[in-house]
Amino acid sequence: MSNWLLEVEDLKTYFPIQKGLFGGKIDYIKAVDGVSFRLKQGETLGIVGESGCGKSTTGRSILRLINPTGGSVKFAGTEITTMPQNELRKLRGRMQIVFQDPYASLNPRMSVSAILSEALSVRNDHTNSDDRKEQVNHLLHLVGLNPNQADRFPHEFSGGQRQRVGIARALAVQPDLIIADEPVSALDVSIQAQILNLLQDLQEKLGLTFIFISHDLGVVKHFSDRIAVMYLGGVVEIAGKQQLFSKSYHPYSQALMSAVPNLNPLKRRERIVLRGDVPNPANPPQGCTFHLRCVYCMDICKSVRPLSAEVEPGHVVACHLYA
Ligand code: SF4
Repeated sequence: MSNWLLEVEDLKTYFPIQKGLFGGKIDYIKAVDGVSFRLKQGETLGIVGESGCGKSTTGRSILRLINPTGGSVKFAGTEITTMPQNELRKLRGRMQIVFQDPYASLNPRMSVSAILSEALSVRNDHTNSDDRKEQVNHLLHLVGLNPNQADRFPHEFSGGQRQRVGIARALAVQPDLIIADEPVSALDVSIQAQILNLLQDLQEKLGLTFIFISHDLGVVKHFSDRIAVMYLGGVVEIAGKQQLFSKSYHPYSQALMSAVPNLNPLKRRERIVLRGDVPNPANPPQGCTFHLRCVYCMDICKSVRPLSAEVEPGHVVACHLYA
């Protein structure tokens, strides 16, 4: 039996596109291209990167909300990329997702009580209505909502409260793993900290394992044990939070780090402004996908994709500077 709750190995998710004058040529957007990491029970991995780097597609591919093109995802030692849908349905209860936009992910025609009851029925369809009501109240209490609000509809809640409902729905099936996909980026800054604290409390209370996806390294830092930095479909650096914040190696990570505000003037980093934009994922650069924006680019970077190498125990970087 594996010690890892989740093992992701060389995960690839490609989306076909038509190219050419008459659309006859098929090409692929390599949204996720060879992502690997492992996660222990109770651990939080933050995945950070610019919009379009493949972090959300990675999360959805792990849950098989999108079918991956290749690679392996093992949950509690069981391969799930090839699992038939009926078996996958049983396993889904142990892996849940919290979406960025709680309003879009909650059925506007269902009361909160009905939304949570539906989620609870996935776990146990044989409870009577009194038990179910008690469970709904417990879930609302757990996420800091008043059980008196159970009969309200999603539009009657604020954005932060709706995200709490989304979290309660994810908890209803007693998952082991929650993938939180930009869970606070649609919320006011004043509410973000409340939701982050709630997630942290729930993790401690329930021993949950999290993948926390965000474009904001400051937010990821708040919540993660380890952090994976993604760029154009691949993980360019992965390390413990303290390791990464005390010394990041990859030039892209260094640029991200330099943009994180630090209240301590002695620890402020010089801001690194990247040149150019993220290349089109339908036509990524050869070799290192970051080479067009990298000030350290060497000839080899233009033709050979760098392999991941361990630069310190538990600190892995994909860059020719450290090969
Ligand atoms: Fe820069 Fe080369 Fe490292 Fe890519 S492999 S990040 S281009 S130095």
